[in-house]
Amino acid sequence: MSAVAGGRTALHGSDIPTRYVVDPAALLEPRTMLIDGEWVRGTGDSVIEVRNPATQEVLAEVPRGTAADVDAAVAAADRAYTAWRDTHPSVRGALVSRWADLCEEHAEELEILENLENGRPRFLPSPIAPSIRFIAGVADKLGGLSLPTANLDQLALTVRDPFGPVGIIVPWNGPGWATPKRVVGPLVAGNTVVIKPAAEAPLTVLLLAKLAMEAGIPAGVVNVVTGTGREIGESLVAHPGIKRVSFTGSTSTGTRIMELAAGHQIPVILELGGKSPQIVLEDADLDLAIPHLVRGIVSNSGQACAAGSRVIVHRSLEAQVIKGLKSGFEKVTVGPWYEDPQMGPLMNQVQLRRVLDYVEIGKEEGATLAFGGEPLTGGAYDGGAYVQPTLFTDVRPGMRIEQEEIFGPVLTVMAFDTEDEALEIANDTDYGLVSTVWTRDVGRAVHFSRRIEAGLVSINTSLGFGAVGVPSGGFKHSGFGRISAADSPLEWTQTKAIVFGNTYS
Ligand code: NAD
Repeated sequence: MSAVAGGRTALHGSDIPTRYVVDPAALLEPRTMLIDGEWVRGTGDSVIEVRNPATQEVLAEVPRGTAADVDAAVAAADRAYTAWRDTHPSVRGALVSRWADLCEEHAEELEILENLENGRPRFLPSPIAPSIRFIAGVADKLGGLSLPTANLDQLALTVRDPFGPVGIIVPWNGPGWATPKRVVGPLVAGNTVVIKPAAEAPLTVLLLAKLAMEAGIPAGVVNVVTGTGREIGESLVAHPGIKRVSFTGSTSTGTRIMELAAGHQIPVILELGGKSPQIVLEDADLDLAIPHLVRGIVSNSGQACAAGSRVIVHRSLEAQVIKGLKSGFEKVTVGPWYEDPQMGPLMNQVQLRRVLDYVEIGKEEGATLAFGGEPLTGGAYDGGAYVQPTLFTDVRPGMRIEQEEIFGPVLTVMAFDTEDEALEIANDTDYGLVSTVWTRDVGRAVHFSRRIEAGLVSINTSLGFGAVGVPSGGFKHSGFGRISAADSPLEWTQTKAIVFGNTYS
């Protein structure tokens, strides 16, 4: 953090080849908060520095918001609420659909900004526009039921009312991909939103909000307050004007969100961490599976809730899979995003320390470090927090490295002898976000998919990537509530029953 420099914000990208900067002006603004349709610096006198993980260079400064800024944003969302709720759902859908169009037009800027602020290598085509457009299409299809009655002179039905102003808190590991998916459901259902981006990566969220304004979504319907979790996140969840919260982040912060929400009895949706199993049965197609297993842990440097961090393999294939994974890891290119590597830097030194600590824990627990485990230094690596993809073998159920979310490119391999044992290992963590089963046998795929405790089971593919409209959410400590599916916006409504009295008898 540093003091405000005369309200000036700066975006440096001196390390970025100019071929990637399609419209530098679009990346430069806005760098302030969005409250009631206005770009404002808020009431505080401090800023947050947003750093490029590849170089640790300061990309931009954004205002460090205060509780007073949260008050202003919630008041704006409250003022905008009634008109937005009463807007014809098809109009809400059309405005949100226009937002999707603008995200498509500006996909390159959104991609670059996310690459810049969280270090993720390029991953086009972007999923942003399709995920918004899909939900925009259900805006005018959300409805209630007509209910059976005692006689034909009665009428009973349900309608679905929105909640009002709602809070959306998002993490740093995928701000561009994560935010629209969490905002679009509440919006089409008639709620207004106050978004709190992560302090480390607020820039893509600000550009998304700018595009929402350009799409014609009315002032006050979408607000963004930048700042820290402790200050802005806590003020937002505890605010009496906020009627529901969507939180995406770590399981420990999710617990705090529930405590704050309990203070004024509001419901929450929590999307939390994961420790996702990838089960390789003895009939798996390893030529297909191994590249996916590698990608599942090196994508976003393992800083993904859905990272496939636990390989659970039939003992007959264990040696072959380990050999394949080592060979795959050897070929993984690591570097800054604009060099198009498979793996970029970790977010910061805190993340690097966390990963290296877990490497030590794994060794102390008696697992075999079969690949990697070292920081990468020298040349371009010196600017950022780079680490080798890391493989642990001889891992036993219950070890911390196979139970706890590391949030880095650390993969554990465990062997099983029976299908029951595979399922027991897969389900024996606190988490239950996503999972994958590799098998050629449809019957076994069904058997496993019905018994795995996770919000998503992928068969012979990487963790559901590429599909649109797939509900996303967790079991157990990975959270509750679902986003992205056609019926997900209903979670942003409350059921009201209406019964018409009978004046005839
Ligand atoms: P985090 O919990 O530290 O922060 C998430 C967000 O909450 C940030 O905006 C942060 O500023 C805010 N926050 C922090 N403390 C807060 C508090 N006391 N009150 C209110 N808000 C607070 O998580 P992170 O490190 O930013 O993200 C990584 C975590 O997010 C991982 O555990 C990952 O698995 C999880 N995640 C889950 C999903 C999913 O869909 N399940 C998606 C992405 C990330």
